[in-house]
Amino acid sequence: MSTTLIFGHKNPDTDSITSSLVMAHLQTQLGNDVEAVRLGNFGKETQFILNHFNIEAPRLIENLDGVETVMLVDHNEFNQSADGIENVRILAVVDHHRMANFQTSEPLLYRAEPVGCTGTILYKMYNENNIEIPATIAGLMASAIVSDTLLFKSPTCTPQDIAAATALAEIAGLELEVYGLEMLKAGTDLSDYSAEQLLSIDAKPFDMNGITMEIAQINTASIPEVMERKAEIEAAMATIITERGLGLFFFAITDIINSNSQVIALGSETALVEKAFNVQLVDNTALLSGVVSRKKQIVPVMQNNA
Ligand code: MN
Ligand code: MN
Repeated sequence: MSTTLIFGHKNPDTDSITSSLVMAHLQTQLGNDVEAVRLGNFGKETQFILNHFNIEAPRLIENLDGVETVMLVDHNEFNQSADGIENVRILAVVDHHRMANFQTSEPLLYRAEPVGCTGTILYKMYNENNIEIPATIAGLMASAIVSDTLLFKSPTCTPQDIAAATALAEIAGLELEVYGLEMLKAGTDLSDYSAEQLLSIDAKPFDMNGITMEIAQINTASIPEVMERKAEIEAAMATIITERGLGLFFFAITDIINSNSQVIALGSETALVEKAFNVQLVDNTALLSGVVSRKKQIVPVMQNNA
C-alpha cells in the first residue's frame, strides 16, 4: 500500500494548509502511513504562520498520478479537489462545508460538523483518541480557527470554535488577541500581487442550478485601497470568464476590521447577485453590509436564488 496523501482544497487557505499538516500528525500517531501535501500556492497569512512555528509547507503536488488513497480536509466538493480525485480511494474526509459533488464507491470515514473551522474538528479528534497535542500542532489549529472565524467575528464562528482556540492557544503559549491580529494583518498585505493573483488567492468554483461561477474572496483592512485597482481587476476577471466559460465571477473584497464586503461582479448572470443580496450593482460593484463569510453568507443566498 502506498502512502496516503492528505490535502485541503485548491487555492489553499490557512485552514487547508494547517489542517493537512495536523491531520497528517494525527494519522501518524494512529499508525497510518500518510503525507500532507497541497494543491496550490498559499497566501501571506499562511506564510506568517509557517514562519512563526518554523514549519515547512506541505509538498506541492500537480496531480494524483500513482496515488492510491487520499484523505480530504477542509473540503469535499470534487471540483475544488485534486484533478483525478474520482479515480483514487478516499479513506477519510474531515470538513465543515456543505456537501456537494461528492460520491465514493467504497465506505469511508466522513466527519463533518457545522463549526467555523476544520481545526476545531481535528482538536476534538485528538481528544477523542486520547492523543497528546504538541505545542506546534496546537498553534497550527489555533491559527486556522482565527483565520476561518476572523478572530471569532465571523457569523460562522461557534462556541466550540472559541473553546477549542482558547484551549489550543494555552497549549501553544499564544496570546490569541495579539498573535491573531498580527496574523490576519499579514494576510491583508496585497501590495505585490498581480490582479490575477488577487483573484486566485482564495477562489472556489461553484455550479448553481446550471450557472457556473467562481466566487473569490480577499481580506483587507481597506476596501478603497483595493478598489483603486478596480479596472485592472475587472480586466483580469473578464479574461477568466472567457477562458472558463463562466456565467458569473463574484469577487468579494472583505474588510476584516469593519466586517463588510465590497463585491465586484462580472458576467452574464450578475442579476443573480442583485437578486440574492437585494442590491443594485453600479459600475459592476456594490457594498454587502455585514457580509464576511462566503460559506454562510454568500454561497447559500446565491444558491437559493439561482
Ligand atoms: Mn478553506
Ligand atoms: Mn475551513
